[in-house]
Amino acid sequence: MKPKIFITRQIPTHVMNQLKEVCDVSIWNEEDTPVPREILEEKIVDIDGLYCLLTDTIDEELLQKAKNLKVISNMAVGFNNIDVDAATKRGIIVTNTPGVLTETTADLTFALLMATARRITEASDFLRSGKWSSWSPMLLTGQDIYNSTMGIIGLGGIGKALAKRAQGFNMNVLYHNRSRKLDSEQELGLEYCSLEDLLKRSDYVCIMTPYTPETKNMIRDEHFKIMKDTSILINTARGGIVNENDLYYALKDGEIWAAGLDVFEQEPVDFNHPLLTLPNVVTLPHIGSASIGTRTKMAEVVAENMLQALNGEIPVNIVNKEIVSNKSPISYFN
Ligand code: NAP
Repeated sequence: MKPKIFITRQIPTHVMNQLKEVCDVSIWNEEDTPVPREILEEKIVDIDGLYCLLTDTIDEELLQKAKNLKVISNMAVGFNNIDVDAATKRGIIVTNTPGVLTETTADLTFALLMATARRITEASDFLRSGKWSSWSPMLLTGQDIYNSTMGIIGLGGIGKALAKRAQGFNMNVLYHNRSRKLDSEQELGLEYCSLEDLLKRSDYVCIMTPYTPETKNMIRDEHFKIMKDTSILINTARGGIVNENDLYYALKDGEIWAAGLDVFEQEPVDFNHPLLTLPNVVTLPHIGSASIGTRTKMAEVVAENMLQALNGEIPVNIVNKEIVSNKSPISYFN
């Protein structure tokens, strides 16, 4: 009997066909909307593998219903939508998609930085709304990027890729990370700083940590107060890392100059969210890794992780490595 898997969103046809060859596949087939919780609760009972996205909350309550689940294969590098401890307790492998989206997300982060610094969306809206009456010396003036200082909080894969882009703009790059990265300091000429020092000195503060209990609201009121009033906050990691209420007041009161946000604490963000009322905020609908090539590659990696786990192998991108030592390698393809 083929292992049963459930896919919570439409995926590229060639990946679907690859999975169908060896698995009994069911998919949430509606228009491009997240799978309702009740369907997930129904499906989770007897599946062997779950192919899910960051819009799916995989918590302890849901996992309690899973009788056969061996692997949760998440289509993202972040896995804060999954209670990994609850999965580990039940011997369920959790995987993610690191690496394949690193450069694409760094590109988007730099694009957002530039758009925010140079007020690109505001300028485009200004022109399209017929307000452009003449060239003017101080019209829509922004901040310089070349020769400025970037502070990266979280120097992982994407943080490093961002630092490389900053080099091309002759930026001085500071970083803060929970562990020091001496090799990257040497290779990329980076300077390690405390969080406070980084916030005080940076023109651009870029958040690139995962969302964990330690990083929840890591950037809040007291931090905005020590940032330069010309500084720009860029968040393409996860919304909850920044206290959004404090960010709103920091932007409104001129404690910082602007923010570029690809992520929000609640997604999709409410259309009436106070941050969306501010002209000095550039917002995007969580499209960090959204290039055609990268999203396709991510789907392929999710399938590879799934098939490796179901074949009794240790998936290359396993998140909860600690469960492997307790597991005997069983293939479910017999
Ligand atoms: P990564 O390679 O795992 O890097 C994360 C870095 O953050 C690591 O260097 C880690 O330090 C550091 N870190 C963790 N907790 C910290 C803390 N409390 N204080 C300071 N540093 C801390 O991950 P990545 O691939 O660069 O991705 C980073 C995050 O970006 C993901 O978790 C995801 O949420 C987000 N992301 C968003 C998008 C998007 O579409 N907007 C796309 C991709 C990723 P250690 O080296 O000590 O572990």
